[in-house]
Amino acid sequence: MAEFETLVIHAGQEPDPSTGAIMTPIYQTSTYRQEGVGRHRGYEYSRTGNPTRTALERCLAALDDGSHGLAFASGMAAIDAIVHMLLPGDHVLAVNDLYGGTYRLFEYVYAKLGITFTYSAAENPAEFLANLRPETRLVWLETPSNPLLRLCDIAAISELSKRGRPGVMVAVDNTFATPYLQRPLQLGADLVHHSTTKYLGGHSDLVGGAVITRDERIAGQLRFLQNSIGAVPGPLDCFLVLRGLKTLSVRMDRHSQNALRIAEHLQEMKVVASVFYPGLPSHPQYELARRQMRQPGGMVSFALHAGAEAAIRFAEATRIFSLAESLGGVESLIEVPAAMTHASTSESPMAVDPGLIRLSVGLESVDDLIADLDQALVASA
Ligand SMILES: *Cc1c(COP(=O)(O)O)cnc(C)c1O
Repeated sequence: MAEFETLVIHAGQEPDPSTGAIMTPIYQTSTYRQEGVGRHRGYEYSRTGNPTRTALERCLAALDDGSHGLAFASGMAAIDAIVHMLLPGDHVLAVNDLYGGTYRLFEYVYAKLGITFTYSAAENPAEFLANLRPETRLVWLETPSNPLLRLCDIAAISELSKRGRPGVMVAVDNTFATPYLQRPLQLGADLVHHSTTKYLGGHSDLVGGAVITRDERIAGQLRFLQNSIGAVPGPLDCFLVLRGLKTLSVRMDRHSQNALRIAEHLQEMKVVASVFYPGLPSHPQYELARRQMRQPGGMVSFALHAGAEAAIRFAEATRIFSLAESLGGVESLIEVPAAMTHASTSESPMAVDPGLIRLSVGLESVDDLIADLDQALVASA
């Protein structure tokens, strides 16, 4: 198999057979002419399949070392398809630091329908897996997690949770890491999830999601749900993800370099109480990060000694970092999770420290980014 840097550019994509166009065309069509009843070239209707989407799905499958990729209209639509494989009475064991929207979907949509959820810290795999029940069907991991950048040992949890339990599926939300930094299927997971909105698209210009698997049966179920529920991405959005993917490895190298410099800088600042970044030796799972990830990625969180109000003033005072939700684009973003991305967990045991600040470190000059953080500190003091 070709190397990752080659796959991001070529996997799933051939120059267009009819014109030689190098870039996969945007097949902006809802339907396809049939040569006779039931005789067609593999495409009947664009909810079921579209050639631009097929190219993206094949590319994503190759990047995560899977055999099946499925693209969705958003990251949440992709998670929805995964949970839709479960039945009332089934149980999900999830890590307790996770994307706020995932928690909202689990608790406010699926709990009502009779699926039960347990959230637990996963730093210690044995303690985490003590929460498994006979009716557990899905183990949901997010690593690095959002917003605290905690890690799960994917290999250990996959092995232990499936030992003697053939019905358990392990899914990893790989949005923060991307397949360039971490490949969960190689570590024993059954499903990989991405919000392609973030690093895979990489330019803050689309919303999308994906699921990748090697399991034929799971892929069949997901394909059925994708077509039945219909939360599919349009061809233009698929094209934009394909285009973003071409530079994924180059971007992730620089995101990681810039984030490490910023995390080191924050750690030196007296006003900063704690810094969360898996690339710092002070991170409690530094060794696991080195084992499981190629690089530590572009997300950094930190808390100020001065607390929540100071955090909000700080986040409003940066000039290059834009105050915005989302992450993974070329531009740097700053946000306060408790009041923004994670507001839906505020009443829960998983509520985030209101003084926490999250950075999505972009590809600007790192010296400019550090100067921006320094001036924001002075301006907000
Ligand atoms: C953004 C995000 C999602 C949800 O994806 P959307 O594309 O916004 O629907 C899920 N998980 C993580 C880790 C995310 O960052």
